[in-house]
Amino acid sequence: MSTLLEVKNLKKHFPIKGGFFRRVVGQLKAVDDVSFSIPKGHTFGLVGESGCGKSTLGRAILRLHEPTAGEVKLGDTNITALGSKELVAHRKDMQIIFQDPYASLSPRRTVMQTLLEPLETHHIGDAASRRKKVLELLDIVGMRPNVLHRYPHEFSGGQRQRIGIARALTLDPKFIVADEAVSALDVSVQSQVLNLIARLQRELHISFLFISHDLAVVQHISHEIGVMYLGKLVEVASSTDLYKEPRHPYTKALLSAIPSPDPDARTHRTILQGDVPSPLNPPSGCPFRTRCPEAMAQCANAMPALKNIHDDGNIHQVACHLY
Ligand code: SF4
Repeated sequence: MSTLLEVKNLKKHFPIKGGFFRRVVGQLKAVDDVSFSIPKGHTFGLVGESGCGKSTLGRAILRLHEPTAGEVKLGDTNITALGSKELVAHRKDMQIIFQDPYASLSPRRTVMQTLLEPLETHHIGDAASRRKKVLELLDIVGMRPNVLHRYPHEFSGGQRQRIGIARALTLDPKFIVADEAVSALDVSVQSQVLNLIARLQRELHISFLFISHDLAVVQHISHEIGVMYLGKLVEVASSTDLYKEPRHPYTKALLSAIPSPDPDARTHRTILQGDVPSPLNPPSGCPFRTRCPEAMAQCANAMPALKNIHDDGNIHQVACHLY
């Protein structure tokens, strides 16, 4: 399986200014040295609690936030090295689906206008071919042509998210960041939208970075999963491996919090104490040590590196001194 997206040592630090002269007094390390790759047609699930840097990572990959350091390659193109004009041309290959479809769709544009806009901006096709493309997109996301002249407020949350997905597909992207794309939807609607994303990935061979705070949501849609904590990846594995044999104490705690119909499973539940520490003042050594039930003395002294624990060629990376 060929690699579509390769992220190498990506960092996004935000300068913190203070004092009378508004000097830089610190750095908020929202994304700190993150590396992973996504094969063509695969979905990489990115999970972690709110504030761990998942959305910033998604935006830094797309250069909606300018990375502080590191490299992002999409196919043969080094996205981080592109000038602004070249970046505009490559934007069509990389799209994003937002959490709140209502906020991301203009209330004054009909579905037709919303879906035509990217085609017109990139001067793709003529009027007839653009209209044909819009109708195809509606069909792909399971909507009928009679919605074309309606406005966002006339739809339910699930329908609006379908329109958001159709818009992300207008330019035939190779890669889509889905940022908490189903979090604002009712559970019944969530599964419809997840099925739609899984179908797009299968039939159109689009690669997804699927960001969610909910491991249960990510499980069904992802080939590989990365668990993020305080701006760093702490575990990366295939979806099957991660759910069957989680290694990092943080992953274990997140998995144990997923409600289970099995009453015995609830006895193994790990309750995470406290909140995620501020990325402005992270703990020394392992960033998870202040909440880790297995923390040892050495965890305060050295940051554990993310390393592969399998020697059979399969990837299962963990950043923990226990391994
Ligand atoms: Fe816990 Fe130490 Fe592993 Fe960090 S390195 S997750 S504190 S055991």
